[in-house]
Amino acid sequence: MNDAENLAYIESQHKVSREYEALCKQCGKCCGIETDPCANLKKSESGRYYCATYESRLGRQVTVSGRVFTCVEIREVVRKGLPNEECGYGR
Ligand code: SF4
Ligand code: SF4
Repeated sequence: MNDAENLAYIESQHKVSREYEALCKQCGKCCGIETDPCANLKKSESGRYYCATYESRLGRQVTVSGRVFTCVEIREVVRKGLPNEECGYGR
């Protein structure tokens, strides 16, 4: 691939990634909102939940109660089963 093709490929991958992430309804359930939420989980003024450390989220994290766990890619979460029936990745 030449530079132009490389750039086009990277941009297409970013587009696919953005489209995939846009499926999330930001309900917070896969981050434990209904039980013991991750300490990085925040609520926006619109009522949606978001990760305060999204770019560096993967790996060791701690919940509000102090439980240590490992944050993984949503693809990995969904592969093991949907966090809830309304999850945007259910289709
Ligand atoms: S359960 Fe699904 S829709 Fe809700 S925050 Fe997690 S990935 Fe997004
Ligand atoms: S670190 Fe992981 S589990 Fe914690 S809020 Fe961010 S995405 Fe959710």
